[in-house]
Amino acid sequence: MASATVGTIDIVAWFVYLFSAVMFVVGLHFMNSPKTARKGNQISAFGMVVAVLMAFIVLFAKGFVNTVAVVVLVVGIVIGAVAGVVSAKKVKMTDMPQLVSVFNTVGGGAAALVALNDILTKEGAPDIVVLVTAGLGILIGSVTFTGSLIAAGKLQGVKWVKKLSLPGKGAWNIVFIVLTVASFVMLCVQPGQRLLWSILTTLFALCYGLVFVIPIGGADMPVVISVLNACTGTAVAMSGLAIDNVALIVAGALVGSAGVTLSILMAQAMNRPLLSVLAGGFGGSDAAAAGDGPEGTMKETSPDDLAVQLVYADKVIFVPGFGLAQAQAQRELADLGELLKGHGVEVSYAIHPVAGRMPGHMNVLLAEANVPYEELVDLDEINPQFPSANVALVVGANDVTNPAARRPGTPVSGMPILDVDKAQNVVVMKRGRGMGYAGIQNELYFEDNTQMLFGDAKKSLQAVIAAVKELLA
Ligand code: NDP
Repeated sequence: MASATVGTIDIVAWFVYLFSAVMFVVGLHFMNSPKTARKGNQISAFGMVVAVLMAFIVLFAKGFVNTVAVVVLVVGIVIGAVAGVVSAKKVKMTDMPQLVSVFNTVGGGAAALVALNDILTKEGAPDIVVLVTAGLGILIGSVTFTGSLIAAGKLQGVKWVKKLSLPGKGAWNIVFIVLTVASFVMLCVQPGQRLLWSILTTLFALCYGLVFVIPIGGADMPVVISVLNACTGTAVAMSGLAIDNVALIVAGALVGSAGVTLSILMAQAMNRPLLSVLAGGFGGSDAAAAGDGPEGTMKETSPDDLAVQLVYADKVIFVPGFGLAQAQAQRELADLGELLKGHGVEVSYAIHPVAGRMPGHMNVLLAEANVPYEELVDLDEINPQFPSANVALVVGANDVTNPAARRPGTPVSGMPILDVDKAQNVVVMKRGRGMGYAGIQNELYFEDNTQMLFGDAKKSLQAVIAAVKELLA
């Protein structure tokens, strides 16, 4: 009777997990467009709630839980649910990347714990499939745990995390990669010693996560974040394979494959070889960051002067960056664009793939302000257009416009940039003389054809809109 119940519950659970997996795929499909993305999130979240409830039911039906375990499970679910809802509601849009990194930390850590538990509690020696999949779950999950924790600290701008440095950074990466892989191999070939080898794999992988992310400079973080995202998914899929849970396998595979695709795109966008990221072959150069900045003075302009330049221009290119998101000035920028277009000015928006703090940040921001999609122009297509632009209006973008990227020896070297300095006139809106995310001064601000309009981007744009309206009245 008992085994019949176990058999039935396993079959029911398998179908319910499959249903959840379908919900994840459907949800992901809806995330293809900003218009349906919210619905996609809700569908995927529903799939996850169903999977968690089913896991709970299976534990009870199989008699795996005593009173203490029930209390631990319920407390865990309540804490997790409250933390998830509160953080998702309270966190500002500009702080989302840090939140995603924290979620990666939790996801990677959980996957490693599930795999560790599976390997250590199996009666008798686990077979090779379990050893390999659970071992990879432990390895990748542990790297993700510490790596994402450091990434979240860097993105949040926590001073002591940003200051962390390692002498001989690349060497540490190689040392810990070798130690981690060696322990993992030993775990697979010596299952009798699995306690020792799984603990060593965990410890070395945790260390690799630290030495992998600590040396990475600000401008290179998009690649690292995408790689860690891919790692979270892969670790979850491996743990799912180890414990034979189809929902975990599919959810992990979706996140992992999306993360790998994004990592490749981000590495291409930053002109960095992906493999050298994993081996610590690049990163921020503190020496370069602290070195001599550009010399000269910044010329200031006013909203009235800028309005005149814009109204008499034939072609204007807007260059949005993180400061636009920080100021939440996307609607004002779109309004200015509409005003100028109504006056016969050609307006386009230059989109750098890593502008802002998350992939696609500028596209999402401008879509929210109903900027027509055809006016958003990618880096390769917009760069040849800068010389013919009468005005390039840079709104809160910094690193992605820094000409220092064109020469070696700086933290942004090699990164493709928007050729803003080639426009006939450049006006930069920012609050003050603050540096970009890479921690270096922008040479663009000292060029002869550049003027600065200091102030919060939203307030500056409102003042420019008022001045343009007055001129056109
Ligand atoms: P940056 O972060 O380089 O610079 C943003 C600028 O905006 C700052 O110089 C700041 O200057 C200004 N600013 C901030 N708040 C305001 C405001 N309220 N009004 C006006 N200006 C403001 O931005 P970019 O978009 O040019 O570059 C993105 C950087 O982030 C790159 O280095 C990229 O590699 C990195 N990154 C990108 C990720 C992604 O996935 N897209 C993820 C992680 C990192 P001031 O303080 O003087 O106002």
